[in-house]
Amino acid sequence: MIDAIVLGGGIVGASAALILAQKGQRVALVERDFCGSHSSGVNYGGVRRQGRPLHQLPLSQRAHQLWADLPGLIGIEGEYVRSGHLKLARSLGDFAALQAYAEQTRGFDLGLQLLDRSELRRRFPWVGDVAVGASLCPDDGHANPRLVAPAFARAAQRHGAAVYEQAEVIGIEHDSRLFQVHCANGLHLQAPWLLNCAGAWAGKVAAQLGEPVPIISAHPAMLVTEPLPGVMTVSTGVEGGGIYARQVARGNCILGGGRGFALGPQQARPGQAAVLEILRNAGELYPFLQGAQAIRTWSGTEGYLPDHEPVIGPSSTQPGLLHGFGFAGAGFQLGPAVGEALAEIVCDGTSRQPIEAFSIRRFQA
Ligand SMILES: Cc1cc2nc3c(=O)[nH]c(=O)nc-3n(C[C@H](O)[C@H](O)[C@H](O)COP(=O)(O)OP(=O)(O)OC[C@H]3O[C@@H](n4cnc5c(N)ncnc54)[C@H](O)[C@@H]3O)c2cc1C
Repeated sequence: MIDAIVLGGGIVGASAALILAQKGQRVALVERDFCGSHSSGVNYGGVRRQGRPLHQLPLSQRAHQLWADLPGLIGIEGEYVRSGHLKLARSLGDFAALQAYAEQTRGFDLGLQLLDRSELRRRFPWVGDVAVGASLCPDDGHANPRLVAPAFARAAQRHGAAVYEQAEVIGIEHDSRLFQVHCANGLHLQAPWLLNCAGAWAGKVAAQLGEPVPIISAHPAMLVTEPLPGVMTVSTGVEGGGIYARQVARGNCILGGGRGFALGPQQARPGQAAVLEILRNAGELYPFLQGAQAIRTWSGTEGYLPDHEPVIGPSSTQPGLLHGFGFAGAGFQLGPAVGEALAEIVCDGTSRQPIEAFSIRRFQA
């Protein structure tokens, strides 16, 4: 007998499985491909709170605490560094928006530092002249998603979760007491709790259980350069979006921006236009990257709801069903806290962090 089936082995599902197992629940984690092989393992690696909407900040702050002891949680460092996150402004209007955000988030302990043009030049001389100011969140940072995402599933397994990979869920029934979950490989599981953590594909699961949501898939474009001398001391973004960039200890710079396209339901590519736009923006904002060789480009498949907020919490139709999906390109940092919130609902009936804003009910007429 198992207590909970977690559908989806990304950072959200694997965190939920890990924390459920730590709390003594019998849990099965079911993944169609390999744990961490989709968004959670191919993302940019930004672990930032800065820039999030205010109602995400309690969860994001909790995630920040969990990330602080990553080795204690998943057994590896995952190249996680609290380098700081520098959000650049390209106009005075954008700088005013950064100032307003710093004011609105004053109660959240983000420690934001506003840098005018001269302070920005003094502290980050490698930033291009197009930037007129910035906001620095000193304790935000970045990590290697390829290491971190699968490590969550391995940690769940070490704590006793049964992890099934290459097990696509193709049928779910609910008989008012138990969920019956059928996989393409013949695996059949049953449990009173089902956690829908199926990422961009979670809408299919919700619809199958009578709760359709207007989720779409999109594909952030990414590239990495050859190793370069160490220059970027912080992870960076830009007010209004367009580009983000970080440099890892080996010297490679990882850049993201714009959207790619789907090759199929599970495969995405960055596309030429998005890659050229990243390179153009990079030349302006980070002049030391002019002429750098991009050695690889990629993308991933991420779920977006119309309001760009996730769905987190209980189903409105099926007792025992919980959702955690639709992170709109920003769920890597939140993932561990979302997994914890879902595990708390299973074990304690409620989550310690406020999640009402993310209810699936907001899509019901
Ligand atoms: C290119 C890119 C860059 C990003 N950059 C950042 C960033 O810098 N910072 C940040 O915070 N966030 C970022 N994100 C977003 C972040 O990666 C995601 O929000 C987060 O990883 C979502 O985790 P997840 O567990 O919900 O989804 P996923 O990692 O997609 O996991 C869902 C899993 O469910 C499985 N699944 C689906 N259907 C089934 C089924 N029927 N049966 C069994 N298994 C199934 C899938 O195979 C998949 O492994 C980025 C995303 C992308 C794509």
